Amino acid sequence: MQIINTVAEMSAIVRGLKGRKRIGLVPTMGSLHKGHTSLFDEAKKQCDVVVASVFVNPTQFGPKEDYSCYPRNLENDTKLAKEYSVDYLFVPNVQEMYPNPNKVAEISIPYITDRFEGAFRPTHFAGVALVVAKLFNIVQPDIAVFGQKDYQQTLVIKQMVEALNFQIEIVIAPTIRLCGGLALSSRNAYLSEDEEDKALSLYRSMNAVEDAVKKGERSSKVLNSILHDILLPVSTKIDYAEIVKADDLTATEYFNNGDKAVILLAVYFGKTRLIDNKIIEF
Ligand code: AMP
Repeated sequence: MQIINTVAEMSAIVRGLKGRKRIGLVPTMGSLHKGHTSLFDEAKKQCDVVVASVFVNPTQFGPKEDYSCYPRNLENDTKLAKEYSVDYLFVPNVQEMYPNPNKVAEISIPYITDRFEGAFRPTHFAGVALVVAKLFNIVQPDIAVFGQKDYQQTLVIKQMVEALNFQIEIVIAPTIRLCGGLALSSRNAYLSEDEEDKALSLYRSMNAVEDAVKKGERSSKVLNSILHDILLPVSTKIDYAEIVKADDLTATEYFNNGDKAVILLAVYFGKTRLIDNKIIEF
């Protein structure tokens, strides 16, 4: 595995590969765990060459968010990436990705970004879209693999790819969980033992909704109250906990058989904000 720190070097490598090899890109913010490595596996399955990026992207963090203390562990990331057959680990610094603050671009992805994460983190998706577009142009992959863990993000990326005609296939891989159901996340490192126990209620609440749906429940109001009844007593704050249509994240009073919905959660345990989701087929 080669570690690449500059855009120029990455571009030169891509020039040598393009057209001959199928390239898969996995963008990450590092602090790698089994969720990330499952994306490397998926990319390897579908491609000849896997490029993973490790970049804690400042433009996707709000001014009061955890950019400066976001967990960073390049030594372990390098070890894991190597172990999981990443061919090129692209690790640019901020200066390399954003060399001139007066010569930047903004990418706005309308509609899908105005709710849920977009409502609570108003600049987040513009930052995500910008860095992902830059990585797409630098690496020019045939496919890019993202986790369902960040469900709304997958919709944003798909909309960007379609609207801007990126010739890249977007692959979504399932969420990897610990045995109690807690989704792996770099931010789990912030949780105390007690908070981690309480955070298991995320998975429990989504399963309770799934059970109710299996028994015939169709009302959003009832399904949302199942989520809140489980999450309220154990969390410090709920940003959102709601079941909505899976394709555009809009609410509906009742679901019909055949509908595809998604449960979206953003919940605080102590000071740590965790997100999770689950697709529900009616
Ligand atoms: P991050 O480093 O948090 O920006 O995540 C990089 C990629 O890994 C994103 O596409 C995430 O959706 C994905 N990811 C994060 N956690 C998980 C997980 N538990 N299972 C599967 N994919 C994940």
